[in-house]
Amino acid sequence: MRGCDGSGQRVSFRDKTTQSLQETRCPLPSGTAFRAFYILPMLSVTFLGTSAARPTVERNVSAMALVREGETLLFECGEGTQRQMMRYGVSFALSEIFFTHFHADHFLGVIGLIRTLGLQTRTDPMRLYGPKGAKKILGQAIQLGVERVPFQVEIQDVKAGDVIGDAGRGTRDGYDISVFATEHGGGSVGYALREHERPGRFDPEKARAAGVPEGPLWGKLQKGETVELADGRTVSAEGIVGAKRPGRLIVFTGDTRPCAGVVDAAQGADLLIHEATFGEEEKERAKETGHSTAREAAQVALAAKARRLVLSHVSARYSISADELVKEAREVFKETIVAKDGLTIEVPFSD
Ligand SMILES: [Zn+2]
Ligand SMILES: [Zn+2]
Repeated sequence: MRGCDGSGQRVSFRDKTTQSLQETRCPLPSGTAFRAFYILPMLSVTFLGTSAARPTVERNVSAMALVREGETLLFECGEGTQRQMMRYGVSFALSEIFFTHFHADHFLGVIGLIRTLGLQTRTDPMRLYGPKGAKKILGQAIQLGVERVPFQVEIQDVKAGDVIGDAGRGTRDGYDISVFATEHGGGSVGYALREHERPGRFDPEKARAAGVPEGPLWGKLQKGETVELADGRTVSAEGIVGAKRPGRLIVFTGDTRPCAGVVDAAQGADLLIHEATFGEEEKERAKETGHSTAREAAQVALAAKARRLVLSHVSARYSISADELVKEAREVFKETIVAKDGLTIEVPFSD
């Protein structure tokens, strides 16, 4: 979406293993010159592990990288995640990892990843977030098998309702990450990344009609600033730039039963990433083990009026083919796919 003026509807699912675009639709609207200086931030997620409980030949255990304007955030870090990062081209220059709970398939990879980062003579601090117990469990994990970690690792316990700021570092730019409750036992949580509002739609014709020449002044107007023309007149953004538009919302559930907490957190989400460990035939088992079926995840997406749903954390029986899960979910919510390792999804603006 780099260079898009925000009204394009391009949606692509790039499969990094084959480099094929799985889906593309709605070409960008006719060109407008101001695109050249108003660039929207790129936002994408890459699935590093999509298997529940244990790795399979096809799928590693949970981890997902989110990349926004060159910044990488990691959600979960199952065993072997660092190798998946190398395989799928995810940067090691990350400074935050978010954990939803502390079942082994979601965090064991942090032991090796922190060690590798230490070997790389990293000096930047790393911040790890997780529900109650994070300090203890992750604190033990990162000290396992190493004399000392040569960079600072801060561990923060989070709870539902928290908004994770950047602790005054000024590193988080243009979005917030909020924590919501999920139903998987032990105070499990999910995370929602919500971008701040962005400027309204710029109308080049109106700018021209007001006598503002194409160029840097258009960029200022787009930001809502009043500009001064060469003849001394001033022109405000009002009437040339529309109302502010919402940013994107990406919601990552981790392991959970379908629940109201997720429905609330995912209201209008551009992308809902929901676990779907089982198919309908094992819906009782899903209930017993604190997981969701594909259909239940789809019902959550429908209730939340999400734009699209990606299912992950699938049982080993769906490792090779998750067609059954896709079919069951799409009967409820059409815009559903099942993730596989290496899948990257770009998340465009909805308008
Ligand atoms: Zn799990
Ligand atoms: Zn779990």
